[in-house]
Amino acid sequence: MKTHDVFIGNGSIKELPALLESKKIKKVLVFRGKSSFEKIKNTIDEMIKGCVVDYYLDFATNPIDDDLQKALRTISGNYDAIIAVGGGSVIDFAKLFNFKSGRKLFFIAIPTTAGSGSEATKFAVIWIKDKKYSIEDDTILPNYAIVDSQFLKNSPKYLKACSSFDAFAQSVESFWSVRSTPRSQEYAKEAMILCKENIVNYVLSDDEKTMDKMSQAAFLAGKAINISKTTAAHALSYVFTKEFNIPHGHAVALSFPKLFAANTDIPLLALNDKREIAYIERMKKSLKEILSYDYFVDVLAKIGLELNLKKLGISNVSDLVKKVNLERISNNPRIFTQAQLEGLFFND
Ligand SMILES: [Zn+2]
Repeated sequence: MKTHDVFIGNGSIKELPALLESKKIKKVLVFRGKSSFEKIKNTIDEMIKGCVVDYYLDFATNPIDDDLQKALRTISGNYDAIIAVGGGSVIDFAKLFNFKSGRKLFFIAIPTTAGSGSEATKFAVIWIKDKKYSIEDDTILPNYAIVDSQFLKNSPKYLKACSSFDAFAQSVESFWSVRSTPRSQEYAKEAMILCKENIVNYVLSDDEKTMDKMSQAAFLAGKAINISKTTAAHALSYVFTKEFNIPHGHAVALSFPKLFAANTDIPLLALNDKREIAYIERMKKSLKEILSYDYFVDVLAKIGLELNLKKLGISNVSDLVKKVNLERISNNPRIFTQAQLEGLFFND
């Protein structure tokens, strides 16, 4: 099992040179995003100028297996470490390269969005022939994460809404997941409180303190799902991303308010969590003390994520839900029928 360490907070990228030196890292392979990277390139270059550096950016926004196979074929240098700088899919792609190449190099993740929490998880997602796969292995967990909120500056509002709501959903889904543990619930609760206090301000302004809090929330939500995984809102989201190009965080939001209502009011017969009833009651109470259906409808409107499927040009929700991988819903605390799943969306 790898150890996992983090530098967190505005300006924490300054820890990178000393970290590289302490690990005797001389040659690094940097996986980076495309245009999003340009505005931070000078800062990153300055921090790794003591090393020989190769950059790799030849992969799609939602990386597919062909991109990975190409990277595995064409990257041949000897490196001491991999650094991934970008959003969740850049970090996931670099994680998969490190894992599938068998190199298992020292790995540093530097997220530039407050969202996926990929810097804190042992999972990596890839599309193989139109299907989304999540690869899981303890060795995929990054050795270090540098969560520096300065990289979140000047992100477009819609991107911030999508990524921060992903973090919010991940914290709540982790909390109610049937795989939750006392520890994952601690991370999840801290993350959801930070999200609640900061998400609107984060999306609507470029306030530094708020960026700091949201990047911390995303990291904690990542640590939480690393233990508990996600549940129904995530399982239902993938088909909307695949078929309608709806960004991940927005796709997760579509079912979220009604899912919250359903998962905090579970009839005994629909209960999917085998723990004692006292636990279930505590879990629901903790959530309802902080959050509600009305709260989510309101907050999603404030940050500009449309929930109405008709307005998004989606009419065939029944067909879409049929394509959902039901196995992925097995972590949800409540069992749903097909019709109930369809009912989680806003259609008119
Ligand atoms: Zn997510």
